[in-house]
Amino acid sequence: MKADFEVYAGAKTFASGLLPELIAALRCARPGDLIAILSGEASVGVDLEAWCRFTHNSLVDTSVEAGRSRWVVRYGEVSKSADTDRPIGSRLWLYTNFDCNLRCDYCCVRSSPTAPRRALGLDRVRQIAAESAGLGVREIFVTGGEPFLLADIGEILNACTTAAATTVLTNGMLLAGRRLESLRALPRDRLTLQISLDSPTPERHDRHRGTGTWARAWNGIDRARAEGFRVRLAATVSSDAEADEFRRFLDERQIREADRVVRRIALRGVAAEGIALARADLVPEITITAEGVYWHPVGAEDADMFLTPNIFPLAESFSAVRHAFERENEHRRRLATIFNCA
Ligand code: SF4
Repeated sequence: MKADFEVYAGAKTFASGLLPELIAALRCARPGDLIAILSGEASVGVDLEAWCRFTHNSLVDTSVEAGRSRWVVRYGEVSKSADTDRPIGSRLWLYTNFDCNLRCDYCCVRSSPTAPRRALGLDRVRQIAAESAGLGVREIFVTGGEPFLLADIGEILNACTTAAATTVLTNGMLLAGRRLESLRALPRDRLTLQISLDSPTPERHDRHRGTGTWARAWNGIDRARAEGFRVRLAATVSSDAEADEFRRFLDERQIREADRVVRRIALRGVAAEGIALARADLVPEITITAEGVYWHPVGAEDADMFLTPNIFPLAESFSAVRHAFERENEHRRRLATIFNCA
């Protein structure tokens, strides 16, 4: 991960001179900047993590290069979304596959036409839908990769809609032929299509996603609406200015708040820039892939978000996420006590 500042700690630790250097780097930084700390002392990592939690910075990456550890700290907190008090498990994310017809330059799970499919599979989706009854799941989000590459996407979505209101995330470009046909049988009151559109005009969207993709996504939006589905527009943007521009575009078209998502690029997957996110920044939204259970859909193939390879019994994987979150909160409370100065 690239950083805005590099601090070469040498043999220094928090007990022997690293802290003033870190503070000096922070004084030059702006919120959101990334500061890398390189050290031969592996013990620095533990103190750094505790210091980050106490100071509301975030440890967003850890790696080892040529025998030295390198930690990356994001300066400052990410802005909290309004609905962080949603019960854990009320949203369930399913990564049905990781291959995609596009190769967007910020894809947080490295999807592309050449990415291995790693399909969750209809049988597992059916079992998840059946076992989710009684676990408090209110919404299921089906994502990938591009879910409409799957021949059985209609059956997958049908299984999900029997368990909870379902949203399928798509780039909107494959809503034709047999894929459109497979949608037709699905309940309009239980299924929403969330279609990606990054900008009011093609230029920026196409720069990130490929030439001609804006126009094809817009066609997909029209088609889904013509079929009577609720459509939510989802934009991934690089700045507040881009977000404001897109919101004005949605306002002009009288798209209601519930039918829009505007979010910043996350520095995950193949993204070269964006907001660096650590697990501690994110309230868990249980996410299931073919490999197991993850903390959050952003980072659904990253080791720091991985919780367990055991999807079933689903109640146990839900418990694993809730316990991990409780441990995280307990850790925060304990730090507040440890660092109490008076
Ligand atoms: S961002 Fe979405 S559409 Fe783009 S490559 Fe990733 S999964 Fe595919």
